[in-house]
Amino acid sequence: MRDAAELASAAATDIRYLAEVVLTCDDDFSVIQRGAVDVSTHGRIAWVGPAADAPSTDAPVVDLGGLLMPGLVNTHAHTPMTLVRGAGDGLPLMDWLTEVMWPREGLLRSDDAWWGMTLGTVEMLRSGITTSCEMYAFEHAVMDAARAAGIRLVMCPGVIATLDADASGSVSRRVDDVAAVYDAEHDPSGLTTVGFAPHSAYDLGIDACAEIAAAARERDALLHIHLAETRTEGDALSAAHSGASVPRLLADAGVFEGRVLAAHGVWLDDDDMDLCAAAGVAVAHCPISNMKLGSGVARVPEMIERGITVSLATDGPASNDSLDLWEEVKVAALLARVASLDPTLLGAQQVISMATRKGAEALGLHTGVLAPGRWADMIRLDIDDVAFVPVTAPAELIAHLAWCGGSRHVSDVWVGGERVVAGRVCLSVDESRARYEVQRRAQRLAKESGT
Ligand SMILES: [Zn+2]
Repeated sequence: MRDAAELASAAATDIRYLAEVVLTCDDDFSVIQRGAVDVSTHGRIAWVGPAADAPSTDAPVVDLGGLLMPGLVNTHAHTPMTLVRGAGDGLPLMDWLTEVMWPREGLLRSDDAWWGMTLGTVEMLRSGITTSCEMYAFEHAVMDAARAAGIRLVMCPGVIATLDADASGSVSRRVDDVAAVYDAEHDPSGLTTVGFAPHSAYDLGIDACAEIAAAARERDALLHIHLAETRTEGDALSAAHSGASVPRLLADAGVFEGRVLAAHGVWLDDDDMDLCAAAGVAVAHCPISNMKLGSGVARVPEMIERGITVSLATDGPASNDSLDLWEEVKVAALLARVASLDPTLLGAQQVISMATRKGAEALGLHTGVLAPGRWADMIRLDIDDVAFVPVTAPAELIAHLAWCGGSRHVSDVWVGGERVVAGRVCLSVDESRARYEVQRRAQRLAKESGT
């Protein structure tokens, strides 16, 4: 006799996947040998556990072999910048921005952004990223491209003074536009949710950030902002406000009162970290971008110790330059350890959590864990590989994932139960067309900008 709950989940099951190993990334970080994952018709997980204990079902059963785990969550990116990837490499930061990046980006049209997003999304999906949080303009093109490719998207249309302020310095018109995008497009039951993204306090000033935060709070929307990325970016603001730190100024202005995800947080001091912890501000850690741009070392272990939710992110493809979160998994641990001369910091389980469940937590999404009720955003890794031998205990498998696993092992990807990558091929996008379009458009940007 099956009980009611079992019958309900069996009835809802659309397909059952079996795998050699299922890594759930749940509270216990369960490693299930010979596991089963049932996916419902609504694209959510109906049941997870050992195959031997699975409820009986009439649904098709597909034996995938390999390892199934939650898809990775990229919590800070500007993916259409694939169009300017590699340009001006090696220039100092301000020269790189003013002499190469901005002249080229200034010529972007929305169809360019569509193709830039499409190409980057193929790269993300193929490396096992199933959700991306995007801070960028051209939000309609970005949302459209993401939907077509089948990736989960948190679209945070950017607000930046240099582009969006009117003659009086107000960004209110752009804030109204972003609010309209939220009202029309925010869809937690689908693939796209919408947040608000003031670029930074140093660009916009405190008052504009507070105005945008109020609009986000009114809707319980995510506020996504660059914070304390470089050492001196906040100096002028602090000097104008009796030396108070930028996080303190933002907190005092009410910016941290809603749901906030700060990108970088490299130069948060002890007081700033206490303040973020108390306000529930999450931090998107971008170790490779911080290293490539010479920004510094974020104090991640101390943030985690204070209870701050720390997730992982690639940042834009012009400052990484790959859209491969597995690299972040390994580098985040390496950087924390070498900076503190302490090999006990950020263990394998912790960095994999940051790439999965902590990312979902930072974005407020029901993904990042293989558990009933969560979205079936999951990836299969081929562990029949030299990098995964030997395994004498489950912890070693997790260590292999963090230290020698990578995008090259990702063979299949599902978002909301839909398979978008099979056998390392992206099913949802014509990849060769995307490569051709981005190459052609990037050449136009280089030529017309004279850079
Ligand atoms: Zn960024």
